[in-house]
Amino acid sequence: MRSHKEGKHYKEAILRAGELAAKHGGSALVLNLVGELQKAMHRDSALVSFAAAAKLAPNCIDTAVSHASMLFESERYVEAQVELLRALAISDPVDPAEHNVGYGLCSDLTSAERLRDARARARNAMESFTTFICEEFVPTESIRVLDAIKLGREVAATAYDLAKGLATSFQFSGRAQFLRAYVYLKRVRGFDPAIDKRPFLRRTSRMLQDSVIAFRRSLVIALFHAKLLFVLGEYADAERACHRALAIESPDDPKEHDLPPGSVSGEEYDDRVSCVKNQLRTLIKKIIFVGASYSRLPSYEKEDSLMSVKVKPLLELCNATDKSLAKTITDALRFFKKNNSWSFWICPLSARCDGREFVDTPSLWKHLCSKHPERLWGKLESILGPKLCESERDCFALEWITFSQDQDQHDIFRLVKMDGMFDSLIRRAYVGAEPNLVEMRTDKCREGAEILEGIKRRLGALPADISSSQFDDARSGIQNMWLNFLKISVLDYREFMYPVAKLKKGMTDNPNIVGHISDSKIDSIFDDAPSAYGCNVSEGHDSDPSDANKMGTTRKQNLKPLHSNRTLKADGDHQESELCFEDGNSMVKPPNDTEGKEMEIDEIVANVERNELELLVANLLRKWQTQTAIEVSLLSTKKPLTKTCLSIK
Ligand SMILES: [Zn+2]
Repeated sequence: MRSHKEGKHYKEAILRAGELAAKHGGSALVLNLVGELQKAMHRDSALVSFAAAAKLAPNCIDTAVSHASMLFESERYVEAQVELLRALAISDPVDPAEHNVGYGLCSDLTSAERLRDARARARNAMESFTTFICEEFVPTESIRVLDAIKLGREVAATAYDLAKGLATSFQFSGRAQFLRAYVYLKRVRGFDPAIDKRPFLRRTSRMLQDSVIAFRRSLVIALFHAKLLFVLGEYADAERACHRALAIESPDDPKEHDLPPGSVSGEEYDDRVSCVKNQLRTLIKKIIFVGASYSRLPSYEKEDSLMSVKVKPLLELCNATDKSLAKTITDALRFFKKNNSWSFWICPLSARCDGREFVDTPSLWKHLCSKHPERLWGKLESILGPKLCESERDCFALEWITFSQDQDQHDIFRLVKMDGMFDSLIRRAYVGAEPNLVEMRTDKCREGAEILEGIKRRLGALPADISSSQFDDARSGIQNMWLNFLKISVLDYREFMYPVAKLKKGMTDNPNIVGHISDSKIDSIFDDAPSAYGCNVSEGHDSDPSDANKMGTTRKQNLKPLHSNRTLKADGDHQESELCFEDGNSMVKPPNDTEGKEMEIDEIVANVERNELELLVANLLRKWQTQTAIEVSLLSTKKPLTKTCLSIK
């Protein structure tokens, strides 16, 4: 070793080491030395030496790490990992100096210090190893696996085995776990259209279940899982999965797990995160819409063509789950029946009048003057004039719900503007918290009281000369503050009714549909149309298909290209398929038939892209209202057209 270090001939060193090895074949120290000298030039021989040394000195951490490093150099990653894990797990290690000459050359460390350093080296080696596997090996292998799949069925099956091997060997790699399910799904999608894919999709979903937990900050894994649940018709679970993912505080960078690697677009971390989050939100919209469609189907009544929720069962449900929500709904109804309005003003000034609802601004003003008299109120009234009771109610966004009664005088909530409802639900999903009437009222009271204090201060300092420009300025300032006050002091019950839509959906979720899941539903959910999301999801990689032959460095497979390259699409002519379903009268048809209709609605929704969803909803609602046949043509971003024909008898 010294002759090697001192720059003497490598040949000489290796010769001497060889002599030593011949003399002391059973010495780990000599074998380690030989391995060290060989590793630069004779990798295979070095590996043999280190392997023999590791066998002779199983409790030597340094020897195990050297052995592992050599395995790694030889691209035998699985074995390298096993050896590194063994190195880390040695419970009664021997002094590294016993088996490694390097220590004799330059060391005045104690045995304990040498052991400490050896342990640190083992940990570092493991860390570098996992980094390499996650950041280089698995991504490269993923591309090779995905390329291989494009080559055809048999190759695809082999590729799946390789993906499975990666997942089993490198459990710390989220992408490897994801790849296994991803590839499995690709394979399932290549099955004959006549084969029921449901059990296979279930299996894919189960495959990913542990990864969703183990890599719980991964947005791409969560999205993929949620999509699977959606395709399976498990909408409640799918929605939960989306909400959970959206609520992740600092998600993993999508580029750590995305498949194909690099497919989530975005220069910066934030761009990539928002790209995936947008897809999650789109999926939520689809889920909501499917839920809404289902809920309509069985409850269709001729005279009530809109979606509706009977208040009584709704309240019973709320009482069992959320009493304060039940109270809010009861209060809202009472208020609406009395005033024909959902919005009201509150007095911010006193705890005594907390809870009082003023149906308009004049009554709020009257209340302020009588219950909280101030000498400046008169002044305020005089300078504001008619503006005092001006009120702008900006409640367009809340117009998705209204109230009516059916012919038997049952109270009913009607969901009239689906896009408003979507927005409401999506906003909640984004904020992550459900609105709370009590909290919001408290906040508004505090804010309102602050504004009133400010108004009083400005009134007190009002210039005496009412013809001066200072007076005008002050007056318009006060006017703005007052308008702001009125705006802040208004509350709208509908703001808190969004759980109605949610419950409505929950009550009528239809998770147990049986029968075929169409290829088109699966395709539309998993073949994300790039422009629709503002994301550049690229499926392809331009790498040479012959790369597939290099797949799996340690498990070389002979992947022959197959003549058939048929994987995803069942047939080419479904670009302009007509999905027809009947409305209205179909409700009285046997359940099997209804089921068929539901599947078709599924498909329609699945096919609809984000920007078109609202349009579809609007069209559907108009159709439901007018009961006339209309045709909805939906521009697909990928295909020329997905034409959806909606005809009604
Ligand atoms: Zn009051």
